[in-house]
Amino acid sequence: MKVPILDLAAEQAELGADIRKAVERVLASGHFILGPEGAALEREIATLCGVPHAVACNSGTDALHLALRAARIGPGDEVLTPAFTFIATAEAIAYVGARPVFADIDPATFNLTAATLERALTPKTRAVIVVHLFGQCADMPPIVELCRKRGLVLVEDCAQAIGADWAGTAAGAWGDFGGFSFYPTKNLGAYGDAGLVTTREAKHDAMLRMLRHHGSKVTYAHEVIGLNSRLDEIQAAILRVKLPHLARFTAARRAHAARYRELLAGAKLQLPFEHGRGTHIYHQFTVRLAARRDEARKALADAGIAAGIYYPVPLHKQPVFEKEYGRISLPASEAAAREVLSLPIYPQLADEQLRHVAATLRACL
Ligand SMILES: *Cc1c(COP(=O)(O)O)cnc(C)c1O
Repeated sequence: MKVPILDLAAEQAELGADIRKAVERVLASGHFILGPEGAALEREIATLCGVPHAVACNSGTDALHLALRAARIGPGDEVLTPAFTFIATAEAIAYVGARPVFADIDPATFNLTAATLERALTPKTRAVIVVHLFGQCADMPPIVELCRKRGLVLVEDCAQAIGADWAGTAAGAWGDFGGFSFYPTKNLGAYGDAGLVTTREAKHDAMLRMLRHHGSKVTYAHEVIGLNSRLDEIQAAILRVKLPHLARFTAARRAHAARYRELLAGAKLQLPFEHGRGTHIYHQFTVRLAARRDEARKALADAGIAAGIYYPVPLHKQPVFEKEYGRISLPASEAAAREVLSLPIYPQLADEQLRHVAATLRACL
C-alpha cells in the first residue's frame, strides 16, 4: 500500500470538474493578471482571517518580502526569526538588505516565544518574523506585547497556518502583516506559485499593492522600486474553487491527527503537542524520535510511506549562513532538526493508510 506525502490525484477526482470550469472561465475572459478572480480571492481570504485587507502576490516568499519592504525594513536593521523553518523566512530578510538574527524555539511547539525573542534582542532589532510552524499558532499575546513595547514590526509567516487561530484570532490577524503561501503542498494549494499578505492598515494595503506592481498605482507612474509579484487569474480561480472546502479539509486533517494519536499511543516517540488555545490545522503531523530517526524514515519509505523531515538542517547551519552564524548555539532548534519526522497527513487519507503508517512505525521503534 502506498501512502504519499499528499495525493493531488485524489483531489482531482473530487474537485477536478469544478477546477476545469474555473480555468475555462478565466481563459474565456482573456484577463490573466490582476483581475476579478484575484480581487475576489483577496476579499475571501481577508474574511477568513478577520482582517480588512489582503493583497495577493506571487508566492509566500514574496509575501514576506513585500511585508518587510512595506514596513521599510532595510540595511542596518536586524530581524528576529527562527532557524527551525523553511529558508524563505530568512531569505525575505536578506532581500531587503537587513540581517536575520536567529532566536531559538519552544521544544514543545517548535515556535518562537516572547522569552526566546527577548534573549535575542539587540539595539538594532527592528522587526520579528514569527512562524506558525506545522499549522499551530505561536503564543501570540506576549509576542504582540513585546513588539508593541519595543516598537518592533511584527510579521507572521502563515505559510503553514491558513485557518489556524490562537484564542479565536486567526493566524495573519495578530501582526502588522501576515504572509501566506499557496504553494501546491500547503493546506490551501494552488496549481503553481501563489501567495498573499494580510494587514489591518489601509496604508500598508496601498503600499503592498504598489510594491507588487512595479511600484505603481497608475500605469507608467512608478513611485518606488517595486517587484513583479502579481497573482495570476488562473491560480486565483483555482484557489477560489478550493477555499470553500478548506474547513472540511482541515477537519479531516484534525481527525487523522486524532487517529494517529490513538494508533501510536504508548509507542516510543513523542506525539505532537497541541496547546489547545486554538485550532491546530495539522499542515504537518510531526513526531519526535530521540534516536534512529533516519532509520525509521527509511523503514517507512521501504513500506511505501513518504514521511518527511522538515527541517533536517536549521538555517544557521545552512551553507549560505554557516560562515556568519555557524558558531551560534540554538539547542532546541538543533535537537528538533535531529529528531523530527512528519507523517503523511492530507485530507483524503484512508483509515487503512493511517493504520499502515502507524503499524510500520511501531515495528521499527
Ligand atoms: C512554504 C513556506 C514559505 C514560502 O512559500 P512559497 O510560496 O513557497 O514561496 C515560507 N515560509 C514557510 C514556513 C513555508 O512553509
